[in-house]
Amino acid sequence: MLVNLEDGVCRSQIVVTDADDATMTVECTLCGDSYSVEPDAFNDGGVVYWPAAMGHNRGGGGDE
Ligand SMILES: [Zn+2]
Repeated sequence: MLVNLEDGVCRSQIVVTDADDATMTVECTLCGDSYSVEPDAFNDGGVVYWPAAMGHNRGGGGDE
């Protein structure tokens, strides 16, 4: 999933490649750099990219 951000770590095209309880792993598609960031690293309060990356999209069908 692509992350649209103006405040990104790399200020490039960042893709979230993985996530766990406390971090997201992101990769820059331009320079190939890969690193872990906090769930709210993209100023979304940790409620947009991280849950999506964790596969917790809403409306998926009541899996808790
Ligand atoms: Zn980069």
